[in-house]
Amino acid sequence: MRISIIGAGIMGLSTAFEFASAGVEVDLIERHQGPGLGCSFLAGGMIAPWCEVESAEPLVCNMGQEALHFWTSDVPVATRQGSLVLAAARDRPELNRFSRLTSHYKRLDGAELALLEADLQGRFSEALFFPEEAHLDPREATRALAERLAAMPNVKLHFGVDVSDPADVPADWIIDCRGLAGRGALPDLRGVKGEMLVLRTQEITLARPIRFLHPRFPVYIVPRGDGRFMIGATSIENEEEGRITARSMVELLSAAMTVHPAFGEAEIIETGAGLRPAFPNNLPRFRIEGRMVRANGLYRHGFLLAPPVARRLRRTILEGAYFPEVMDVDSRERQRA
Ligand SMILES: Cc1cc2nc3c(=O)[nH]c(=O)nc-3n(C[C@H](O)[C@H](O)[C@H](O)COP(=O)(O)OP(=O)(O)OC[C@H]3O[C@@H](n4cnc5c(N)ncnc54)[C@H](O)[C@@H]3O)c2cc1C
Repeated sequence: MRISIIGAGIMGLSTAFEFASAGVEVDLIERHQGPGLGCSFLAGGMIAPWCEVESAEPLVCNMGQEALHFWTSDVPVATRQGSLVLAAARDRPELNRFSRLTSHYKRLDGAELALLEADLQGRFSEALFFPEEAHLDPREATRALAERLAAMPNVKLHFGVDVSDPADVPADWIIDCRGLAGRGALPDLRGVKGEMLVLRTQEITLARPIRFLHPRFPVYIVPRGDGRFMIGATSIENEEEGRITARSMVELLSAAMTVHPAFGEAEIIETGAGLRPAFPNNLPRFRIEGRMVRANGLYRHGFLLAPPVARRLRRTILEGAYFPEVMDVDSRERQRA
């Protein structure tokens, strides 16, 4: 069996890895000159299934736990030091709300928080600590996946190839993982704008991601090593790509400076804005049409959900398994027909 996968974002790479690991011949075709240069390039990389339940379906938590295993065992690029949730004293109700909606956390006082993150000493009187969560650098993760694929004899990587119509690609199965670029075949797919920036400072050390709650502008800070911190991300229901607005920049920076004033002296080394591919329910799914599969809709959870979705996709194609939670309702019927 030969499978062609279009798009080497996190969905395409995870899918290629699943099929290739099962011994299938895989062609992975990407229009950019390397992997992970689309929407996946901008992600924060929190592998935080329990925190996500605050605003996502329980399915995200269940599948996210599979991703924790994937990123710490199968392709071990994640750092598992837990994650922290903080709020300014005036936003304490936000922290209480978050705690009511989530599980698998410990409530810390200021002294316990300082034992975990010395640079936050005296800054917050309480925090939520999710000890089992992890984080990764998405660029390192996509690179690592591509390197693993390049080393497999049954995989061919084709970079710099723009596929105008996936249906024309010769293969037993074609898997369309083009992200938002695949919306022509998926009319209910929409783009949700996300903006981020990367700061560099040697004045602050953090070992784990921080979610900073705010009633209007929740923000996260993800340490990337070498004094770099990804600050993200806005979530805006419009499809304007490519630029960060002045308002978003101010909000992200002001939240970062509330977490630690030394961020005010940091160097801004990168800004970015992209469109997350999302279905109306903000959950991923794949649709099977003949020998074509469309896998999409990762929304805010690319690195959290791509590995478990890819695993279900592989089991559907190779074993005839059925996963209603991620399959288009009538996919199976079409497959039978
Ligand atoms: C600011 C921001 C922050 C985010 N933070 C997080 C986070 O913390 N954690 C998380 O898990 N997710 C996060 N996300 C979401 C995550 O980035 C997406 O869910 C994920 O990247 C979608 O992956 P994908 O593979 O479907 O799409 P993409 O990464 O866009 O990949 C699609 C690929 O297909 C290629 N392609 C398109 N058309 C063609 C063609 N015709 N021929 C060949 N190749 C083609 C593209 O070049 C691209 O490489 C964030 C997103 C944004 C914008």
